[in-house]
This record gives sequence, C-alpha cells and structure tokens, in this order.
Amino acid sequence: MKLVFLGPPGAGKGTQAAVVKEKYSLEHISTGDMLRDHVKRQTALGKEAKAFMDEGKLVPDEVIINMIRSAISGDACSEGFILDGFPRTVPQAEALDVLLEEMGTPLDRVILFEVDDETVVSRLTSRRVCSTCGAIYNIHFDPPPEDGKCRVCGNATIIQRKDDSEEVIRRRLEVYHEQTAPLIEYYASKNLLSRLDGTGPKDAVLALLGRR
Ligand code: AMP
Repeated sequence: MKLVFLGPPGAGKGTQAAVVKEKYSLEHISTGDMLRDHVKRQTALGKEAKAFMDEGKLVPDEVIINMIRSAISGDACSEGFILDGFPRTVPQAEALDVLLEEMGTPLDRVILFEVDDETVVSRLTSRRVCSTCGAIYNIHFDPPPEDGKCRVCGNATIIQRKDDSEEVIRRRLEVYHEQTAPLIEYYASKNLLSRLDGTGPKDAVLALLGRR
C-alpha cells in the first residue's frame, strides 16, 4: 500500500503514521525526520537545509526530490510506504508521479488530515519529540516520562523542536496554505483524496483505511 499523509504541521500525520506503519508493515518516510537527521550529522545536505528549516520555510524541491528518490526505491519499501510531509508543493507531487510511474506502482490513497490553524499552534507549542527516535509527546495530553527518558527508545533525548516556537509555527502555516494546500485539489482531481478529522483519536486513520 502506498499512502501520502497530507495536512498542516501538527495535524497528527506523524503520530498516526506510526500506528499505520505497525499495522500494515509499511515504511514510514518522513522528509522532516530525514532532514533533521542530516542536520544532526552535519552533512552537506543538512547544512543546506538547516537555515530553511529554522525559519519555517521549505527546503528547495530538487534537494527533497533527490532524497525521496532513493528512499522509496529501497528494499525497505517492498510492502509499501507512508509519505509524511512529502509532497509539499505541486512540483514535488509531479516528480513523485514520475518516480512511481517509473516504478510501475501508483499511489493508493492520499489522506488529508484537517485541523484548524489555532489548534495547530496550541498543539505544536506543547509538542515535545525524542531527538533520537522521533517519538512524539505532548506536555498536556501525553507528557514525556518524569525521568526524562523516551518511552520508545529509552534515551534521555526529549526536546522541543526549534521550529515549534509560535512565530515559526505561524510562518509554517502560511507556507502550508500557500504552497501545500494546492495539493488538495491536485489529488482530489485524481480521485485519490480522503479527508480525516485530525482532532479525532490517534488511530482514526485505521478505520478510514479499513473501510475501503
Ligand atoms: P516537518 O517535520 O514535516 O514539519 O518538516 C520540518 C521542516 O523540514 C519543514 O518546515 C521544512 O523546512 C522541511 N521539509 C520537510 N519536508 C519538506 C518537503 N517535502 N519540502 C520542503 N521542505 C520540507
């Protein structure tokens, strides 16, 4: 199964991708996580991407498309994948279409996680993440363990992302509405789009996938 999770930052794409990944043995491909890994390792790509990410802007399409090409053609994706945070622009979506056509495997579904802007701001300012394994916490609803160690990987590496400050979140939302929201029509016109209320339970997407 090949899925795209579309929606604003903080809509629950990463959280629900973790649930779907388990259930269907899919590879979870998050371009944000991949980029953060490059930044952490200080690769050339990471150095190029960092300034864009810190300001809440999009990393240039060519950089992202090259990164995705090798990710989706690897063996780990034999059962399929969930693309989380990609595509984010129309040129990225067009490039994905070309890549999948070359591979002879079209997308099965694009799930749009719908959440209003103020919910996003309140969720992301209270989000904490494990910088080792990417596990997601929320200081109000799912607080990190008191000993500071991640429940998933056991490392004491739970942090607030630099781009989860209110100012940067508002910029990321602007970028979403301008550059990513056009993909809703792009995929609706191909009859691939399903809408999901992003404020529902954290495994709501399973019901949606099972229903088809
Ligand atoms: P995310 O974790 O998905 O919110 O992504 C964090 C940041 O990484 C974004 O604000 C962008 O700067 C960058 N990024 C992630 N995915 C993409 C993409 N598909 N295209 C361009 N920039 C991206």
